[in-house]
Amino acid sequence: MWPFRKKNKKEDNSEKHSAEHAQLLKAIAPWKTKHMRQGWRPIAQIGTVENYKCQFGGIPFVETGMSEAVCPLCGKAPPLFLQLDSRELPESRRTFGDGLLQLYYCTSCEGDGEGWNAHSAVSQFRILRSRELHRANTPLDSIITPRTIVRWEPFEDYPSTDESEEMGVTIGYDFKNDLVNVECRELGLVMKGLSNHINDLDMEVAEAISSAASGDKLGGWPHWIQSPEYPSCPECGSIMEHFFQIDSGDHLEYMFGDAGCGHITQCPKHRGRFAFGWACC
Ligand SMILES: [Zn+2]
Ligand SMILES: [Zn+2]
Repeated sequence: MWPFRKKNKKEDNSEKHSAEHAQLLKAIAPWKTKHMRQGWRPIAQIGTVENYKCQFGGIPFVETGMSEAVCPLCGKAPPLFLQLDSRELPESRRTFGDGLLQLYYCTSCEGDGEGWNAHSAVSQFRILRSRELHRANTPLDSIITPRTIVRWEPFEDYPSTDESEEMGVTIGYDFKNDLVNVECRELGLVMKGLSNHINDLDMEVAEAISSAASGDKLGGWPHWIQSPEYPSCPECGSIMEHFFQIDSGDHLEYMFGDAGCGHITQCPKHRGRFAFGWACC
């Protein structure tokens, strides 16, 4: 008869865990509201679309009389990774003024030039301020399949689990028993001995409390593959802020190392200063 009794006991436990998890997620909600950031997912169409200038890959625009981008390491035309027209962005994200922001990335120099490094010469930013624009004469082998961004879909984003501790949520692990202790001082919240796995959501406690979305996105919180890595502005030393996330295998047909994730950051003081770095497992 004992298998039945065991099953019943398990069911009792899982009900107890569900109740505890529901209580935790309810209690942590004010912290989540406080740290929520708006993010926008790009909705894109393959190819170029008339009248839209926000794009992954494809042929970049250049200003009349402006030279085309050249990789400082190899002297060749680097592929365009991302182009954003401020006029097509949500108003709160037009943080670099009026113009076209472009990220070029020399895929041929990535290895020797340490392309993962946020201050590597492999990445190059340009901001085009003039509206007298034409498409560049980019050689075919430097063009990545274009995807035009035709709209932005807003969503709510939260700090990655690596950053939530800095924001005041501490999670202690008892790996042997698969239990966690959760503490959030500002809320006066202490919950001990919770089952680490939330069956209803099929995720672990830390992830359910707070996680940053993977995939391409404007704004929101960075989804860090390793630990948080905000670069410093080379001009003033300020910690640069998350601006845009480019993830491997989403809209841009490019893989950063082994399925890495890239981040464009912006100086909070020098709004025309951007950096791009990436990390993989
Ligand atoms: Zn190069
Ligand atoms: Zn700066």
